[in-house]
Amino acid sequence: MVSTWSRTYTDEVGVLGRRKTELQTSGVIVPAELQDELERKWNAPAIKNGRFVFCLESPEDGRLTTVLIINGKFAVGSRFHLVKTCPERSEGAGSGRFEVWKDSEKYTDVVLLPRPEFYDRFTSDGVPMSNIAVIGEPDHLRSVLNQRCGYQQIGLGCKFCAIESWWAGYTDKSPTQVAEVAEAAYREGMARHVTLSTGTRLSRGKGLEDLVDAARLIQKRANVTFTLNFEPLTDVSLLKALLREGRAAGATTALCNIECFDESRREDIMPMKGKNSIDDYKRVWEACVDIFDHNEVYTMAIAGLGESDESILEGVELAASMGVVCSVVPHTPMRNAVYEDMTPPMVERMMYLYEAALPIYEKYGLKLYGGTGGIYTSLKGM
Ligand code: SF4
Repeated sequence: MVSTWSRTYTDEVGVLGRRKTELQTSGVIVPAELQDELERKWNAPAIKNGRFVFCLESPEDGRLTTVLIINGKFAVGSRFHLVKTCPERSEGAGSGRFEVWKDSEKYTDVVLLPRPEFYDRFTSDGVPMSNIAVIGEPDHLRSVLNQRCGYQQIGLGCKFCAIESWWAGYTDKSPTQVAEVAEAAYREGMARHVTLSTGTRLSRGKGLEDLVDAARLIQKRANVTFTLNFEPLTDVSLLKALLREGRAAGATTALCNIECFDESRREDIMPMKGKNSIDDYKRVWEACVDIFDHNEVYTMAIAGLGESDESILEGVELAASMGVVCSVVPHTPMRNAVYEDMTPPMVERMMYLYEAALPIYEKYGLKLYGGTGGIYTSLKGM
């Protein structure tokens, strides 16, 4: 079930890793006229919110590494910009080839995915399908149910988060709507794996119950696997019951993001979510590994929120020792987040963290982008 043309694992902390990190931490400016074209012809439904995805091609084997660009305020003065230099290359069959330039020189070729046909369709209750779920990378559909996070509604959202400004415009998606879009994407040959995420619901299941409902409905319509992405539940027996139901519905992978391992910073950065202690995460990860297995459970640490390198690397090791892969991503401050005026971490710091983290994954027999769902966790990090 793994795409043959996207990477399952990168050991290229060298050229591609540096390039990806430089582009993410600087941002890539897209001229207004090109934004219109990207929205019409390519897979860039959120380009006007400053978010888009492209791929870097390995010079060695041609495989693609996905790069998510989030152009926050920090990107206004970026030296990188997207260029369409060769219309016949960017419009012909197998196309999507553009270039990123740094000032007045070409920096790298990039590949955009074609605009899926289902983006122009509507759900049975009349919502544009591109407002329900989008293609995040090759073969991968993503949807965020409950895009109004309960913590944001009470003014206690995580300070790096701007969930309502993410990909899709429709904030209260139902499992039925997501299932209709997943079926359309699957039939079009655009989706073999679906990541179902949720803003936190102020319920016992924190929104995981909706992800499981959606997976169940999708399973009846499309032959896909799933990643379930959720906040730790305090009720571990409910967690296990929901994860088992999710697994029975085709989920292969769990993603439970900790974001920050520095206990002294967690509650300041995440006034509600940060009340989950690292031990709470350990309990959840343990249950996830029991149900989904080694290398099928992921978490994420964000670098650039005021934490130390040691806290990140100790966290990567802690997670790895439990069979959990912790990817490390740069903080790319989002517009409309409390932290929108911050600056991303330095490239050299990210390269240091990546170089230090890779041997830890190897020590515990983990692959950064391994497993069934692991290939689809690569959007922001290495
Ligand atoms: S990161 Fe925090 S604020 Fe954002 S959706 Fe998750 S819990 Fe809510």
